[in-house]
Amino acid sequence: MSVLVVGSLALDTVETPFGTVKDAVGGSATYISTAASYFTMPVRVVGVVGGDFPRKGIEFLENRNIDLEGLQVIKDGKTFRWAGRYHYDLNVRDTLLTELNVFETFNPVIPESYRRSRWVCLGNIDPVLQRRVLEQIEKPRAVIGDTMNYWIERRNGELRETLKRIDVLVVNESEARLLSNEPNLIKAGRIIRGMGPSVVIIKKGEHGALLMTENTVFSAPAYPMENIFDPTGAGDSFAGGFVGWLARTDDFTEENLKRAVIYGSALASFCVEKFGVEGLADLSYLRIQDRFRAFRDLSHFEEHELATGDRDLY
Ligand code: AMP
Repeated sequence: MSVLVVGSLALDTVETPFGTVKDAVGGSATYISTAASYFTMPVRVVGVVGGDFPRKGIEFLENRNIDLEGLQVIKDGKTFRWAGRYHYDLNVRDTLLTELNVFETFNPVIPESYRRSRWVCLGNIDPVLQRRVLEQIEKPRAVIGDTMNYWIERRNGELRETLKRIDVLVVNESEARLLSNEPNLIKAGRIIRGMGPSVVIIKKGEHGALLMTENTVFSAPAYPMENIFDPTGAGDSFAGGFVGWLARTDDFTEENLKRAVIYGSALASFCVEKFGVEGLADLSYLRIQDRFRAFRDLSHFEEHELATGDRDLY
C-alpha cells in the first residue's frame, strides 16, 4: 500500500558528546520515507530542496526506491538548514539554528500519481503546508502527523486547524506538554485527542513511547542501547516505521497499532546508532524483525501460578 510523506529535506549540523557533523543530509521527510521504505512500496515524497542539496542525498533516497516526483528542486535557492546540540543526557537537545530558506515560499504541488495515496504521513513542517497537502489528495485511509515546539509556539492556531484532520499525532513528551498545557502525559494525551486525532503517541526518548486511543494506554519500552551516537531523526524514523507497518498490513486495529509502535521504535533504535541517516542505510526486514522480537522479550513476563501452599498470600 502506498505512503505519501511530506516534510523537510535538510542539511543538518549536529553536535553530540561523541562528535560533530556539518551539513549532513537529514530532514523529517528523509528519515520518515527511508524508514517506511523497509516495509512498503511505493513511498512518495513531497518536499523542496535548493541547488545546494547534494546529489548523494537524492541518490540515497533513490536507492531505497523512494518516489521523488513530488520533490521540487529550486536551483538558485538554499536548502532548509537546522543545527542542534545534544547534552550529555541525550534526551536534552538545544536547537541552535532553524533556517527555512526554500521552505519560506514552498507551495506543495501534489503530482497526479500521488493523489490517491492510501496512507499519509505529515512530517514536521509548517502546519499550513501540511494542510495544503491534505487538500490536494483524495480521502486516505489514515493521516499520521508530527510536529515540534517550533510550530506549536509560532503557528498554534494553524496547527489546531491541521490537527482536526489528523488521525494519529506523534509527538515527544515536551511537545505534548506544550501543546496541551498539561504536565501529566496521560491527561495531555486525552486533551490532544480532544483536538482531533483519535490516536496520540507520545515518544519519551530512551524511555519508550505511549500509545493512547479511546480505550487503551499501551506503553512500549525503548531498546536498551549502549552505543547511541546521534539521536537526530529518531522521532521521524519512529513515524516512518510506524506508518510503513500500517501501510504494509493495511490494518488500523488497536492490536496492529501496537505492533506499529514497536516497528517504529525498532527503526528509531537503528537510526541513533550512527550519525545522520547512516543508521538507516543498510537494514533488512530480517534485522528489523529480530529487533522487533527483542522488544517483545524486553517486557514479556509470565504470571506466577500460585501453589496451594501459597494461599496465605490471599
Ligand atoms: P527529530 O530528531 O526526529 O526530531 O528530527 C530531526 C530532523 O527534523 C532534522 O533532520 C531536522 O532537519 C528536522 N527539523 C528540525 N526542525 C525542523 C522544523 N522546524 N521544520 C521542519 N523540519 C525540522
